[in-house]
Amino acid sequence: MNPTRIIIHGGFFSESSTSLETKIAKQEALLRIVKQSYAYLQTHSALEAVVYAVSLLEDDALFNAGIGSQIQSDGKIRMSASLMDSVTMKMSGVINIEEVKNPIQVAQHLLAVDDRILSGEGATAYARANGFEAFSTEIPQRRAEYEAKVAASRLGTVGCVALDAEGRIAVATSTGGKGFELVGRVSDSATVAGNYCNADCGVSLTGVGEDIVSGAVAAKIVTRVTDGFTLEKAFEKTFAELTPFDGFAGAIAITKDGKMFHQDSHPSMVFASYDGEKEEVFQ
Ligand code: ASP
Repeated sequence: MNPTRIIIHGGFFSESSTSLETKIAKQEALLRIVKQSYAYLQTHSALEAVVYAVSLLEDDALFNAGIGSQIQSDGKIRMSASLMDSVTMKMSGVINIEEVKNPIQVAQHLLAVDDRILSGEGATAYARANGFEAFSTEIPQRRAEYEAKVAASRLGTVGCVALDAEGRIAVATSTGGKGFELVGRVSDSATVAGNYCNADCGVSLTGVGEDIVSGAVAAKIVTRVTDGFTLEKAFEKTFAELTPFDGFAGAIAITKDGKMFHQDSHPSMVFASYDGEKEEVFQ
């Protein structure tokens, strides 16, 4: 039996714009969700577990994904999510989908079809045609932030990487975006820069999508591990390549031998991990 591992993130936390109560609430939510998802992973595949964990994060209004998503410049919420499985090497996702409770579950549904990443109206229409009912993920706090034009500092994408008992890795990421973005803007969360895995390593990102795409972060870390870098060195080199343009990013990862790692370029990504014995949560 392989060791099982799970690590999740809930985006960034800013000491200056967030209260101590919110920080404590995020720590508690992340620890509760990582442990619940770890228990689920004991009887499910890594792929099922990352969808389970990200669905719980989407359902928690503390995070900018699913319920509690940011509002775009035209006053509408559009969400993006993707997942990837090391067994099939298939990635599937939705970009700028509207009015579904769990975008990651639509991404999971798309794994079974040929056209696996859908955007905009096509993604929303696919969801409706496949039983995902219309659901508003707006909460009053986001509307108030939108009206006060302060949401741009709230980066709260969610993500999960899991390693199951059969040594399979899977990764899932879901976001409400940056807030106030132009209609049509594409987040990194449904690209291989923000969400990528293979049989050696899985990585999920949060931060400024444009920076994450410029740095091709998840794909680079995974490739470097496959080419023989340790996980720490793969992070070090990839994050060093963000510094010339002050790239804003945070990443979580797991390797096939059960190593977990996380790093951010700016303070502070919120995350939690669990291996059945040791728990870790951001401070
Ligand atoms: N990466 C997300 C985006 O740029 C935002 C976030 O991480 O909160 O859409």
